[in-house]
Amino acid sequence: MPYRVALGGLHTECSTYNPLFQQRADFRRLEGQALLDKAGFDYGAHGIAAIPLFHESSVPGGPVARDVFDAQAAELLQALRDALPLDGVHLLLHGAMFVPGVIDPEGWLITQVRDIVGPGCVIAGSFDLHGQITQDITDTLDIFAAYRTAPHIDVTETHARAAAMLTRALTKGLRPQVARVPVPVLVSGEMSSTFVAPCDRLYASLPQFDRRAGVWDANLMIGYVWADSPRATAAAVVTCLDPAAGAQVAQEIADSYWQARHELVFDMQAMPLADAQPLLDQPLVLADSGDNPTGGGVGDRAEVLAALQQSGTKALFAGIAGPKAYAELEQGAKTVTIGGELGGGGPKVVLDVDQCRFAHDCAIVESAGLTVVISKYRRPFHNFSDFKALGLSLSDHPILVVKSGYLSPDIRTLDRRQIMLLTDGAVNQDITRQQNLNRPRPCFPFQ
Ligand SMILES: [Zn+2]
Repeated sequence: MPYRVALGGLHTECSTYNPLFQQRADFRRLEGQALLDKAGFDYGAHGIAAIPLFHESSVPGGPVARDVFDAQAAELLQALRDALPLDGVHLLLHGAMFVPGVIDPEGWLITQVRDIVGPGCVIAGSFDLHGQITQDITDTLDIFAAYRTAPHIDVTETHARAAAMLTRALTKGLRPQVARVPVPVLVSGEMSSTFVAPCDRLYASLPQFDRRAGVWDANLMIGYVWADSPRATAAAVVTCLDPAAGAQVAQEIADSYWQARHELVFDMQAMPLADAQPLLDQPLVLADSGDNPTGGGVGDRAEVLAALQQSGTKALFAGIAGPKAYAELEQGAKTVTIGGELGGGGPKVVLDVDQCRFAHDCAIVESAGLTVVISKYRRPFHNFSDFKALGLSLSDHPILVVKSGYLSPDIRTLDRRQIMLLTDGAVNQDITRQQNLNRPRPCFPFQ
């Protein structure tokens, strides 16, 4: 009988400052071969029968509505029961879900999984390094692996690391465990990019820890700064066969992050919008960071668009979520009002429509030298393929505005000055100004 391993999970990141609750329709579901491909590991080649349950992920946003999470979890747990008996479970998670009334959604889910599969089953979890990792999570899991790059370019490799450890545990009859040391530091992803110091060297050191005797996989979790949650924390998390060696390595990683906390700075030039306005006469990439949907922002705010319009600058603004404006444009409207349509706040901007065309649920509006992409749904435009799909050539537009924090690996390669705008919104970089009622205290840089 081959070993049997079930795969599944829930994956999103939730800003508690985003007023828009995530609904089931916001999640994209993977099943069958697509889910096996996501795991990036050929379980079959190791004599393991991989059983895909399902995986649901969304563009980060506001809290997940309680009934949505309850339904997703119930469905996933029922699929797990239907897949019994199991030797292993591979959970593909993010770690920064926020659900009202559930303090530790991933921890709760993992303990439910454990209750179903029993103590003999090996449970592996792969996570985003922006996940909030509690003691419940590490006590219940046998195997833990998280991304080692931000921006994340090692997603598939991370799932494969967890899968390889799970395979090793099953085929060699080994039972690893997970050590955790929390670190009272919470900064944004933009301040902890692995492209720059100190996180470049901290993450580069992790593979060396993997080679220590008794240690399998070393991780540094930055945590998620825009959730005012009691579980918000950074942590060092280590999968190990020898608990003493695992605890030692976790402590070393935690100490090195704590000691580097004053080095944590933005990975690119950053300034308020007003300071960038005199620079609009040159080629630029501007990242509207406070409203970045991939960080949990709403993606509907228009203050940067208003500034461009006021200055009369030609630019490509990609994009802004506006389902109502999109519908009006479909009806042939010659003027639309955009900004804060989904509850994200900020100013409203009136666009006179010179031309409008449609592609992939987006309206591409030409208005007095501005090209504005108005999307029917919340979404990012971070990859060259996103622009190509809309028939937009970046070389035609010396100024590009994206709703982004740190720039994607694609946009980073554009040879023009790149500035992160410190704009307002649900993922505002001025984090110590955000309401902070529930995070553990003290925590750098809040206290
Ligand atoms: Zn992340």
